[in-house]
Amino acid sequence: MSEINELYQELILEHNRSPRNYKKIDKPSHFADGYNPLCGDHYTVYLKVSNNVIEDIGFEGSGCAISKSSASMMTTSVKGRSVQEAQKLFEKFHSLIMTKIGDEIPEDKIEELGSLGALIGVREFPARIKCASLAWHALNAALNNQNNAISIE
Ligand code: ZN
Repeated sequence: MSEINELYQELILEHNRSPRNYKKIDKPSHFADGYNPLCGDHYTVYLKVSNNVIEDIGFEGSGCAISKSSASMMTTSVKGRSVQEAQKLFEKFHSLIMTKIGDEIPEDKIEELGSLGALIGVREFPARIKCASLAWHALNAALNNQNNAISIE
């Protein structure tokens, strides 16, 4: 398990160093701001949705390594998927990361998430769960056309 944790940690650091889809999108069909006052993480997520498919996605902003790598992984995970698939993925990710400390999560459930699985270990640090889920909440707000800033507390 510790080897897996090291790999996951490396993946988080790598996404933090070179975040994917770190860009503003011109004339987005959807966008939303996400703010995590506890840590100071603040991002805007932009989407171009057409025919119910997330054709392009980008984010801008700043925050801690967990929040930035999570936003980066979120964008690579939902790009090219349908809106419903993206929302399902959010639910899956959210329910796993909110799993109580001490409750076992089957490894295949984590592997199912691909690179996002790297973030599930964050559940052991409750203060950082908000960092890891911020971009997802912003994505959800954007998809629900809540274009104003959301603050998670
Ligand atoms: Zn943070």
